[in-house]
Order: sequence, then structure tokens, then C-alpha cells
Amino acid sequence: MPRFRFHDQLDELLRPDLRGRAFDWRSAENATAKHAIEALGVPHTEVGRLLVDGRVAGLGHVLREADELDVFPADASRPTPDGRPPRFLADAHLGGLARRLRLFGFDTELARDAPDRLLALLADVDERIVLSRDRELLKHRRVARGRYVRARSTDEQLREVLGHYGLRGSLRPFTRCLECNAPLRRADRAEVSDRLPPRVAAEQREFTLCTGCRRVYWPGSHWQRLRSLVDSLCDTSRDALPAQAPTPQSPMSTPDPPARDHPPQLGRLYDDFVVGDRYAHWPGRTVIEADNSWFTLLTMNTHPLHFDAAWSATQEFGKPLVNSLLTLAIVTGMSVRETSQRAIANLGWEQVRLTAPVFVGDTLYAHSVVIAARRSRSRPGQGIVSVRTTGTNQHGTPVIEFERSFLVACRSAGAGD
Ligand SMILES: [Zn+2]
Repeated sequence: MPRFRFHDQLDELLRPDLRGRAFDWRSAENATAKHAIEALGVPHTEVGRLLVDGRVAGLGHVLREADELDVFPADASRPTPDGRPPRFLADAHLGGLARRLRLFGFDTELARDAPDRLLALLADVDERIVLSRDRELLKHRRVARGRYVRARSTDEQLREVLGHYGLRGSLRPFTRCLECNAPLRRADRAEVSDRLPPRVAAEQREFTLCTGCRRVYWPGSHWQRLRSLVDSLCDTSRDALPAQAPTPQSPMSTPDPPARDHPPQLGRLYDDFVVGDRYAHWPGRTVIEADNSWFTLLTMNTHPLHFDAAWSATQEFGKPLVNSLLTLAIVTGMSVRETSQRAIANLGWEQVRLTAPVFVGDTLYAHSVVIAARRSRSRPGQGIVSVRTTGTNQHGTPVIEFERSFLVACRSAGAGD
């Protein structure tokens, strides 16, 4: 009977006993790959490349007894044809997520209770990505792009979708109506005063107006709660989102503070590191083919998997793999500004683990956690800091993890800015 292997994040959609291994699966006579894959719980929207006996095949492939199928996840972060942020259709169970996505400026329709075929049609005509906790909807043939949302809490769902679709750089908070999804525009007080409570009319100066339902927004207490959510998502010290995401064109932003001079950021001294602190590194870095070929050949690594695309096409992954020492070098480099920029010496790496393959075209992101800091016994005025750094790809899948230690001067011993 046909043999299946699901790769990377597709695994988590399978029954637990089928994960992490190849397995045989009997399907109906003349079933297509789409039928069988979906019967196993993986909607076709999750599937990217399909290999049958090592050759690229389509989901319409009719299964044969001895077929060996390798199923890879769809590349979710590819840009839309017109270069604009993707648009979404969230199923009726994801109302909280729809409002969150609107809060960050993403055009997100919320599906009311409608039959799957109508929702699929709407998504198709409007070129929307379907976000759903209902696999049956995603299995519909007319749904071209979609994701089965794994997370259960609204905030986790938001992080999942932003990470999966590579939207970290496209946040535009407070530009879209939370209730009806229409764009907001600035409004002056005279235009909206007849719809404001007297106290708001007296106290507030900045208003935005929904161009759809005409709802008026102003920076009230509810807005302050949303602002802190926006800040927490834009704040990389707590998650893998960028520290320097573009400043949103927010119609509700408070006036710019007076300009202040900042000296050049020189990096951290020993005293600045606190065990448990987490630093996100930004920006990410896309690995291109030349990076991989040159790095491999510069370092006299003879494995053709890194520079022979034709041969690599015949191997397990069907394409070249990025040299893992290049991944180590890039992710280490990405971490320097927040960690070892002022180090006296790099002391070494430990526990380097490669947790998922990296391919040409993947974008690496990274973050580090301080795991130890102690004064040097032999070198007064210096300390040793250890960090655990994790590199992820554009889907948020960890691809490398390592611990690194470096020697750095203590501010209290006279080093300073
Ligand atoms: Zn509205």
C-alpha cells in the first residue's frame, strides 16, 4: 500500500501515532493524493511540494500500490502578486483573531455562519487566505490558500498568523475598523462631535472615523488597552517580532515627543546582562544561492548537497540544503549587536543543534536568552556571559540552537560608555 511521509510542520496535523515517521496507509481504490492526504487530516492548503517516488507530482496524482509520497508544507510567506499584504477570511470561530488582525491593519473578513461552499467561493473571488479551525472548509477545492490555525488563544493565534505569513514588517496598527474591517481616516472634532459623549468631545483632540460603518474612534481607556497590546507585539524583548518594525502610520498615535539626542549604541557590558533576559535580533536575513555555494566552497567543504542543484534534486529534500556552518555564522552574526558587541573575546559555542533543514530562499530570524553571567575569577573587572541563541525560519520553525559564551568588561570596573 502507499507509503507517506509528512515533513516539517505538517506533522502536527497528523494523528500522534503517525508523526515523525513514514507509514503505510490504505486508501480507497483510485483515490488521488489529495483524497488520501486530506483523509489523514492535512487540508490541501497546507501542502506545498509533493514527491511521489522522488519525483514532483500534483495532488491529482492517482495513488498506486507501491507509491512513496513525501509531502512538504506550503511556502506561506511568498509575497502576493501585487506586493500588498495578504487579505484574510477568518471562519466564524475566529472572531477574536479577525479583530486582532484588523487592529494591526490587515484586511480580514469574518465569515458568518454560511455553508463552506459559499465561504470558499468568497475567498476565491476575493483572493483571500482562509484562516480556519475547521479542516473541512480548508479541504474545499476552491480554497486556494489557507491555514488550519493551530493555536487556541487569540493572542497566540495572532502570533502564529503573523509569523507564518511573514507579516512582521507589515504591521499598520489602528488603520482599520475593528468592527467592520473598513479603513479608518482622520477626522476633526467638528465632523464627529454630534456622535461623541460630551466628556469625550471636551477632552479628546484626535479622532478617526470608519469609512464603512462611520464608527468614531479616539484614544480612550479601551484604546489604551489595545495600545499596550500593540506595543507588546511590536516589542521584541518578549517575542520574536522585530524590535524595529516600521513605525505604524497610526491615525491614533499620540503626538511625537520632543526630539532627543542619542549617542551611538555601543552594546552591552557585563552589568547589563540579566539571566533570563531575552533579546530579539532584527532584521532577518534571507539566504541566497550564492551565499550557500560560495561559503561552502570557500571553506573547502566538498558535499555537493550545498552547490549541485541537479544532483540535490535527486536526494531526500529535492533541492540544495544550506550549509549548516553558514546558518551558524549568520545566526551568530545576527545576535552580536544585542549580545557580544562589546566582548573582549568570544569563548566558544556549545550544544549546537540543527533542528530543521534550511533551504536557499529561507529567511533566518533569531533571538537569544541570557542563561548565565558570572565574574571571571582570573580576570578582575571582567565577566563571562552565556546566551542560548535560537534561529528560526520564516515560518517560525527553529532551525538551529546553540549556547555561546563571551568575555566582557564590567562597568563597575571602570569600563563605560
Ligand atoms: Zn466600521
